[in-house]
Amino acid sequence: MTDKIARFFEEQRPQTPCLVVDLDVVEANYHDLEEALPDAKIFYAVKANPAPEILGLLTRLGSAFDTASVPEIQMVLAAGCAPERISYGNTIKKEADIRRAFELGVRLFAFDSEAELEKIARAAPGARVFCRILTSGEGAEWPLSRKFGCDLAMARELLLKAKGMNVVPYGVSFHVGSQQKDLMQWDHAIFQVAQLFRELEVLGVDLGMINLGGGFPTRYRTDVPETTAYGQAIFESLRTHFGNRLPEAIVEPGRSMVGNAGIIESEVVLVSRKSANDVKRWVYLDIGKFSGLAETMDEAIQYPIQVMGDDGEGDSEAVVLAGPTCDSADVLYERAEYKLPMDLKAGDRVRIHATGAYTTTYSAVCFNGFAPLQQICI
Ligand SMILES: *Cc1c(COP(=O)(O)O)cnc(C)c1O
Repeated sequence: MTDKIARFFEEQRPQTPCLVVDLDVVEANYHDLEEALPDAKIFYAVKANPAPEILGLLTRLGSAFDTASVPEIQMVLAAGCAPERISYGNTIKKEADIRRAFELGVRLFAFDSEAELEKIARAAPGARVFCRILTSGEGAEWPLSRKFGCDLAMARELLLKAKGMNVVPYGVSFHVGSQQKDLMQWDHAIFQVAQLFRELEVLGVDLGMINLGGGFPTRYRTDVPETTAYGQAIFESLRTHFGNRLPEAIVEPGRSMVGNAGIIESEVVLVSRKSANDVKRWVYLDIGKFSGLAETMDEAIQYPIQVMGDDGEGDSEAVVLAGPTCDSADVLYERAEYKLPMDLKAGDRVRIHATGAYTTTYSAVCFNGFAPLQQICI
């Protein structure tokens, strides 16, 4: 919790639910990663939090951006970033959107299939392309495997094919899964990419870039390794597998750039039991799965929750936490153990920590008439 955010909530008492993001924390996160991986170029994954203040700050700090759609590209351009610093990293794009991105000046595109490569060659002639390979997603709390990437044999074939097309085969990317706590997952992937580089070199394709993706964690309820540990592990893997012919490296942090910079304040709407002898109280908040906390799906991401005015002295007991909508899927935590004070009641305020990433963008526009999650950057 930053003092700045605490002061803001106390002085302004914003309508809940409300996310407040401390831009100083985003800046510190950027510098931490820059120091941990001095030779890698940072492409912030815009989807984690596209607030104009965040995009503007990162543009000034020299960041580049990983985008997934034309509107995301336009948001980054509006923040003052040059199109040369934008990558269109989604492997699933409409051809018209590729053409639009190309017109806007974007020259770096991802693919993981032949049909997508053909679209890029038609709509973005001369652009640099990189192929995304599959990873297992093992060790990640929010895996991104299966849906993205192709196997190594297909990547080799497609990059070779790209050489004969109107694009520049430029590199290989992967994503080890979001909130990845196992440092060795990068090593497996880097080993595979290095092998691919060598095989393609023999075939006359010289790749220049390795895209190490995102996956760097935010601290939720349990400790995570330091950023420097990730930096060291990745640098050692690059050295081991590429020797001293290190390619240009890119990282695409989303969660680790903004997660710990934000705190949501929410209000308790109801505390109840389902029967007189129900062992667990149900606590309904004014925020739920459909108003920003989508990553509680399968209880994957477990945010630290603090009850305001609770000094920790009184009794507390396990609760089920749920959102305010009329959808029974809108339960946040039932299996995960959350203990809240016995005297908790409607109207009490709770703070949901480390919610700067993947919250505002997941908030429904008007499900059940609830407004989208409000965000204030300070
Ligand atoms: C979502 C995404 C990221 C960001 O991942 P984090 O785990 O939040 O760091 C990076 N690259 C791509 C291609 C993505 O889709």
